[in-house]
Amino acid sequence: MKNGQKYNFSRRSFLKTIAAGFIASTFVQSCKQKAERLLFKVTGTNHILGHRLRTMDFPEPTETIHENIVIVGSGISGLSAARWLTLNNETNFKMLELETKMGGNAAFGEDKHSKYPIAAHYLPLPNENNDDLIDFLHQEKIISSFNKDQQPVYAEEHLCYDPHERLFIYNYWQEGLIPLFGLSSTDIDIFKQFDKHVVHFKEAKGIDGKFAFDIPLRKSSTDETFTKLDKLTFKDWLLQNNLNNQHLFNHLNYCSKDDYGIGIDKVSAWAGLHYFCARKNTNHQVLTWPEGNGFLMNLLGKYVKNKINYEQLVYRVEIINNKAVLFVYNQQVKKSYKIVANKAIMATPQFVNGYLFKERKQLTKNFQYAPWLTATLTVNKFPMGEGADLAWDNVIYNGFGLGYIYNQHQTLSSQPSIPFSITYYAALCEKNLITERKQLFSWSDEKWKTIVLNDLEKAHYKLSDEVSEIELHKKGHGMISPFPDFIFSEALTEARKPIANKIFFAHSDLSGISIFEEAFDQGINAAKQILNDTTLDT
Ligand SMILES: Cc1cc2nc3c(=O)[nH]c(=O)nc-3n(C[C@H](O)[C@H](O)[C@H](O)COP(=O)(O)OP(=O)(O)OC[C@H]3O[C@@H](n4cnc5c(N)ncnc54)[C@H](O)[C@@H]3O)c2cc1C
Repeated sequence: MKNGQKYNFSRRSFLKTIAAGFIASTFVQSCKQKAERLLFKVTGTNHILGHRLRTMDFPEPTETIHENIVIVGSGISGLSAARWLTLNNETNFKMLELETKMGGNAAFGEDKHSKYPIAAHYLPLPNENNDDLIDFLHQEKIISSFNKDQQPVYAEEHLCYDPHERLFIYNYWQEGLIPLFGLSSTDIDIFKQFDKHVVHFKEAKGIDGKFAFDIPLRKSSTDETFTKLDKLTFKDWLLQNNLNNQHLFNHLNYCSKDDYGIGIDKVSAWAGLHYFCARKNTNHQVLTWPEGNGFLMNLLGKYVKNKINYEQLVYRVEIINNKAVLFVYNQQVKKSYKIVANKAIMATPQFVNGYLFKERKQLTKNFQYAPWLTATLTVNKFPMGEGADLAWDNVIYNGFGLGYIYNQHQTLSSQPSIPFSITYYAALCEKNLITERKQLFSWSDEKWKTIVLNDLEKAHYKLSDEVSEIELHKKGHGMISPFPDFIFSEALTEARKPIANKIFFAHSDLSGISIFEEAFDQGINAAKQILNDTTLDT
């Protein structure tokens, strides 16, 4: 279930799924002929260059440049800051990016078959009170108009087409991601009880008059009634509320990994509930494109045209003589230089900032990030399996990964595109995240390829025979993971504070959760601080 959608346990759907349980699973016969060659590529964040932040073996700077404002990092947060500065007539800025292309986790790839997301792939319809985001979507004509009740009307081509989602459970593809197929009425009852909590928390407000859960997260209530939920894990909260059911756990594990990269035994109960209760929209559709959030990234990218320099690794930042001084390694010419700037926006994750700012090492040690493996596959024929048709989001119940996105789903053709392009997702979080990260980079690519194919073959018999290309994408620090005692922690509050009114911080991890809306909001806040000389909005 993509973020915040509503449960729908109608009797009709329940009876339909039970009846379907008697249908034996038969797979469509796949073509026996093994693909003659398998094109195999591996990409990843520039972790080798990034790892030099540990050793700091950079050459001494040979040049000094003067700039007005420098934005470090071209993820959504950095681009959002650039947009806000531009819209407010501040165009004298430069952007530095470590990678060879823009976007961070919203970057995308393209081959001759399709564009495809490497990581971020959808945006749920924003809450009505998320004015800045609604303005942006309207400005870009993703919202085409507002109806007589002032509700946004979304342009059809940006909304996920039907069918949205399906779940492979007990050898059968059911519609939707909430498990129904093969569940007992007792199981379903527990899901309904969980839904009652969701309904309650969606509407609940604190003594400060704010929603218990909201997006951007900084708008959420700080009433202790709710914030105390951050002290325990989601699983403990479920157990305390007599929601002890393995099917519910499995489903919530999927949801928790989707946004936080960790399961219910690790994530804070506050964050776990935020996933379901922060979205107030009664329209549960999502916005998506073949290139995922790369589409939104490109729209924001116009604000940094001719202002962005790639393969520039910022490795140290200091205040010297009341200026922000950035030490930068230029990977293209293998030389370092200094930038002396009036102001800097660090749209970089805090684990990176821990290396760039001497005094931030301790502060950032509580920031934990889940590693992710994603893989884009070209599939000549799809062994479809029994049940619901190929959807945009296809999840294997209790799979190793979270399933896959069908990248060509948003094409207008009524026939599936051949060959198929899919992107598979796996949050690596079974063991502790440091061990998982080491494994991501130390296990052979061949081993990861086998893991991906084996997982997909649970639902698609002999899929490997039909795969002609695989591209693995490794994200060592994929997304911030809100363990208990993090979201309302002193460390997070401190990390958001600017330094000497010269250096400002804007990355989604400063919200404690890593979603487009938070990155977008963090960027605006940093830009506002520069423009207005104010501290972060609350
Ligand atoms: C697998 C995966 C799937 C996701 N799916 C979704 C989704 O479907 N929807 C959603 O809303 N969110 C999703 N996310 C979350 C996504 O991270 C956010 O939506 C958002 O894109 C984060 O933007 P950001 O600017 O905060 O950070 P980032 O994307 O991390 O950008 C930071 C940028 O800073 C650069 N940088 C870092 N250090 C330096 C340095 N020292 N010098 C120069 N440059 C540097 C990086 O290269 C990067 O470009 C997903 C994340 C992952 C990992």
